[in-house]
Order: sequence, then C-alpha cells, then structure tokens
Amino acid sequence: MVTQRRLLARLRELMARGAGSLPELVRLVAGELVSEVCSIYALQPGDILELVATEGLRPEAVGRTRLRVGEGIVGLVAATGSPLNLPDAQNHPAFAYRAETGEEPYASMLAVPVRRAGRTLGVIAVQNRNLRRYDAGEVEELETVAMLLAEVLAASGAEDSAGEGLGATVPRRFPATSLVPGLAMGPAVVLGAAPAPGRLLAEDSGVELARLNRAVATMQKGIDALIEAGLPQDAGARSADAAASREILDAYRLVAADAGWLKRVGDAIRGGLSAEAAVHRVAGDLRDRMRRITDPYLRERLADLEDLAGRLLGALTGGTAPALPAPGAILLARRLGPAEVLDWHSRGIAGFAVEDGSAGSHAAILARALGLPAVAVPRGLLDTAEDGDAVILDAAETQAGCQVILRPEQDVIALYHRALDARSARQAGYAAIRDLPSTTRDGTKVTLMLNIGLALELAQLEATGAAGIGLFRTEIAMLARGAIADVPEQAAVYARVLDAADDRPVLFRTLDLGGDKLLPGSDLPEEENPAMGWRSLRIGLDRPALLRRQLRALLLAAGGRPLSVMFPMVATVAEFRAARALLHAEAARVRPAPSVLRVGTMLEVPALMFQLPALLREVDFISVGTNDLMQFLFAADRGTPALANRYDLLSPPMLELLAALAEQCRAAGVALSVCGEAAARPAEALTLVGLGIETLSMPASGVLPVKALLRDVDLGTFREVLAAIRRTAGHAASVREPITAWAREHGVNL
Ligand code: PEP
Ligand code: MG
Repeated sequence: MVTQRRLLARLRELMARGAGSLPELVRLVAGELVSEVCSIYALQPGDILELVATEGLRPEAVGRTRLRVGEGIVGLVAATGSPLNLPDAQNHPAFAYRAETGEEPYASMLAVPVRRAGRTLGVIAVQNRNLRRYDAGEVEELETVAMLLAEVLAASGAEDSAGEGLGATVPRRFPATSLVPGLAMGPAVVLGAAPAPGRLLAEDSGVELARLNRAVATMQKGIDALIEAGLPQDAGARSADAAASREILDAYRLVAADAGWLKRVGDAIRGGLSAEAAVHRVAGDLRDRMRRITDPYLRERLADLEDLAGRLLGALTGGTAPALPAPGAILLARRLGPAEVLDWHSRGIAGFAVEDGSAGSHAAILARALGLPAVAVPRGLLDTAEDGDAVILDAAETQAGCQVILRPEQDVIALYHRALDARSARQAGYAAIRDLPSTTRDGTKVTLMLNIGLALELAQLEATGAAGIGLFRTEIAMLARGAIADVPEQAAVYARVLDAADDRPVLFRTLDLGGDKLLPGSDLPEEENPAMGWRSLRIGLDRPALLRRQLRALLLAAGGRPLSVMFPMVATVAEFRAARALLHAEAARVRPAPSVLRVGTMLEVPALMFQLPALLREVDFISVGTNDLMQFLFAADRGTPALANRYDLLSPPMLELLAALAEQCRAAGVALSVCGEAAARPAEALTLVGLGIETLSMPASGVLPVKALLRDVDLGTFREVLAAIRRTAGHAASVREPITAWAREHGVNL
C-alpha cells in the first residue's frame, strides 16, 4: 500500500508534465515493479501500436518498433483488452520478434492494456530476464499505472487514433445469437465503459472514504426504491411486472450489500486513489475476472457487481444515465445487469445487443419477460458503433438469420421496414383473434397453453388469451435469485401464479436443476455429460427433503384449490411412483387439501415409451418435453449449435414415437400434451395436432400465430395427408418438405 501511494504521488507529478514525461514514467515503473524493462506502446492511426517510450529496450527502437493490433503479445493485449501475464513470453504462440528492440534476454512479460472510456489507447508492458509470473499485487499496480497513463495518452491524441481506421461510416454486419426473438430498428445508444474519472488521486483518504460511504448509502436507497416500485419511476408497471422484478432484484440487493467488493474499493482509496478512481479500478478488475470465468452463475454475479459499480459511480459523481436519442432506440452495451434492463426498458428502448450475454443471464430473462428483442454479439460492435448510428437488430430465432446491422444501406433499411410493417400487420391480425376459440376449420378444439417461469410472465396469460399454463418451470425463479427459496417464499410465488391463472389450469413442474441449470455454490459433482447426469428428479429423489419442501409449498399455495404437479426427467415407473409417494406424504399433512390433486410426468426420456402400459395406469397426465426428448432420442446435445438443425422433429422416428404415445394415451384415457419449444413452431404444431395431440404448451410468442394457423386448417384433410406422408416416408431424414408443401398449396400460412 505504501509503495503504491509513493508510486501514485510520483506519477501525479509526472502526469502534470504530459507526454514529455513518458521516459521518466517508464523508468519509475520499472524501478517500482523491480523489472528490467518497462515499455509503452501507443495506438497510432491505422491500428498500429508504436513504441513511444522504453526503459531497458534499445532506445533507438522508440518510434521504429511498430506492431499491428493483434500482432505479437502487445498487439494481442490491445486487441483483446485483457492483460497477459507470461513467465515465458518468447515461447507464446503470439510472440513477434523485433530485432531492433534487443529484447532476446527477457523471458517473462506482463502486458496491460491502456484503456479509457471503453477504447484501447495503448499497452504498457514490463519484462524480466528470469522466468517469473508476476503476482496479483504487481498486476494490480501496473493496471493502476495504465489507468493514469490513459489520461496522458488521451491528452496526446491517441484517443483520436483509436476511432480511426475502423470505417466509421460504412455498413457493418455482426452475426448474433438470439436471446429474445424479435426485430427492431432505431438509432444506437452506445453504453460504453463508464467515463474515466476526472480526478484520479486524492490527498486525504479519510475524506474519500466518507464520500464512498455516503455514495453507498445513496446507491442502496436507490436500489430499495427500485425494488419497492418493481420497475423504475415511469414504467407504467403492471403489478405482475413488479412482482417478478422483485425475484431478480432481491438477489441483486444481496449482491449490493456484499461487503467484499466494497472493501476492495476502500483498500484502493487507502492506496491513494480518489473514490471515483477506486470504483473504476475495482470495476475494471471485475471485468477482467469476468472474461476468464466460464461458470455462468459466477459470471452473472459479477455482471450484477459491475452494474452496481456503475450505479455507485453515478452516486459519487451525481451523473445521470446517457440520454435516449429517441424512443425506440437500440441499446448497445458490453453487458447489462438486471436493474439496467428495467431502467432502459422504462425509458423506451426497442431492444438491445450485448457483447457478453447468454440466454440464461438475468438481463435475458428479464428482457424475455418484458418482450424486449435482444441478442448477444461477438466483441467489436461497441468499438465500431457511435451514438445515433442506425441499427437493425434482427433477433431471428435461427442462428443463420440472427444479426445486428450497423449503418445499413438504404435498400436494406427499406427491406426491414417492409418486414416490420408485415410483422405489425400480422401482430394486429393476431390481436384480433385473441378471444376467438382455437378451433380448426372443421371444428376440432385445440388447447393452447403457456410455458412460463417467472411471475413477470403472468401478464402473458391475458395478452395471448392462453387457456392456462401448461408448464411452469419452478427452477427459473430460483435461478434468477441464485438460491433455493424457503417454503413460505416458494408458496408465495406459486400462490401468485394460481391467483393470476384464476380458473385456468396450471401444471407446476418440480425443480429441474442440474444439466445446464446450475445454482451458484451447488456442490454438484463435475460430470462428463451433465445433461444425462445427476439432475432434475434424480436429485429430488436422492435429496428428498428438498423435493418435499417444494411439494409442501405447492400444496400450501393451492390452499384448497385444484393442483397439478408434474415431475421432470422421469426415466422409470419406479421413479414416478417414488416421487408421487413423497407428494402424497406431504398432501396428507397440509390442510386444506387441494380440491383435486393431479399428478403427471414429463416424457423426456425415451425409455418411458417402453414402460407405457404400466406408466399409463399410474399417471393423470403426460406432457412431452420435446427439447430433451429430441436430445436423448437422437443423442444430440440440445445446446450444441452445430447440431441445432441436424435432426428434425418432423422425422419418421419421432413421429412414430409421438403417434404411438398419442394412441396409447387415448386408449388409456390419460391427458397428453406437448410442452417443448417445438409446439410453438407452426409446422410442428400442425403436425402434433395432426397426430392427435390436442393440447400444446409453448412460449407466449407462439400462442397467437399457432392459433391463427389452426383456425385456417381443415384437420380431417390434413390428417389423411399426414398419414400418407408417413406411410411413404421410407428412410427420409425429414418429412418437413411435403408437410410445408401441402400447407402452401392449401393457403395455410406456416
Ligand atoms: C423439454 O425438455 O422439452 C422441456 C420442456 O423442459 P426444459 O426445456 O425445461 O428442459
Ligand atoms: Mg426438459
């Protein structure tokens, strides 16, 4: 700490002298970090990094040694924006030898990007002769120097170079991954890194610590107010929105109160930084850690922390969020925390793109519930986009079509305008059929239900006119809050769902954790194939206390109303019986008892198909989870993009399975539904109904389009056609083509 204070004090003197002080700066840093070399490379026009100062390398290399961004260790650090700490740099695959520097004797290297407001301005590196890994304190010290150096380089014009050479006016397309399907067009709002703090160093740490404490109190009050309101000030929040925001924001509040990161900010202040610079520093650190962490839930916690650091900076500087150029703008951000999504939604954005985001992130879960189109894009979009640039956010569901187009050409804009107009016309058409029955032209009634997992999504019941909730994924709220709620808390969530559903049926699925859905801190063993591992009901049966608590909460929530409980990942009849026995044991103790208690299973594991006679005697209903059933039937991981379109649900094996299941359920009088995502896809929905599965449960976006299509179909005719297609399919990998061809010829819009 003392060393850092001394270093910072000396740097402050040097910085006042601007770029002319760089030779002294490198000497000072080399001395403080006990390294033989310290060099600074500054970004020049054309994405070139030029050696501008060095202690230890040959002086004649200054101004001569140049590397492209991406070239050599220094270029790699500039390109990725991440530090590299290499004991044996010369054997790193990216190492680029430059004879004029005379760097052969130096084995180890620590290189750190010099960044300001989200842009890389250069790189600072130290080198040593011996093979050594620099310790965390040294890395932190060099990062602090880099933060100060950014001010010097910015003042000397490197910041202007950082924006050049990237073709700031040409159209750019970025392939994207859809987080929430949809289409949006509008001017960009670029949410770069927080601006560099104005004042970096402080004379009096005591004053800064007091400022920090006041800002923390302000920030926490703001979060409490946000949670109380459910949505920020003028969101016009529906009460269901407010309720579900609470699930995620409660978890967020816990992170806000976590002393660990605030202590690190305090330490940085005691090291001589101003409060703003200390928060900036810790946020930068979090960002680096985030890049290295692959565990999705740890990443999520760090994303929450970064969101909080931004709020804390706001509280310290009294700053306000950037203005929205117009309603309907597209937000482009490195990543977003849950509170930011709510904030920006209330300010009228039409969608967002994040460089770091996954479908399971808090931001994506909230966006889905709010109906806000969203995509994840690879790094690069933010460095290229400017506020106000035209953006098309095409969050198409297929990987191939999903993209962000920056500064699109006029004809592309016109094309998308037509697509948006057609979409609005379709939406208007869908809205008009919301209250009409979902009945085929020849009178077969099909029940269309919703798949949801958050109270926030309950509003979709009214919006879509769905007949009920065919799949309530109880684990989603737990994943959102990062922990398993206790019985009263769970019961409150489930009761809210039953209240909102009123007399419409709800199928509650018990916890389906494990596989790709992991809670933080869960001590699940590492497995080679987690999707086929110790997950879901298997955990519930081996840890019955967990499952029983959930079953008790469900029974309490029902409070004398009808209750339907469904078990996931059942592989044997014995497992189903064991799970049901736990439910009955709890049901015997909870009063009032549900007026009707229905118990069913998901069908996701193919082995159940060979136990149907016994199973059908035990269950009240079966719901087919096509997401998992497809992955287990074809041995194709559902999360592997390369396999996404390899196997088709509309293929002879799957259709044979579903037809046999429908037939046997009908004969046994057992209710059958499909609740995998396939039910929302028009050709699949039509085929499932054609096979005799007349209850489909799906994400909200599918309900009205599927209803529109079914209302256009003469089911009797289609059933005959489907039977003929199946008879003649032979060894075809898919029968999609003849099904869609029939639909086209008969004016059915798939
Ligand atoms: C399924 O597997 O089809 C299903 C509905 O469950 P989940 O997607 O939650 O695994
Ligand atoms: Mg499943």
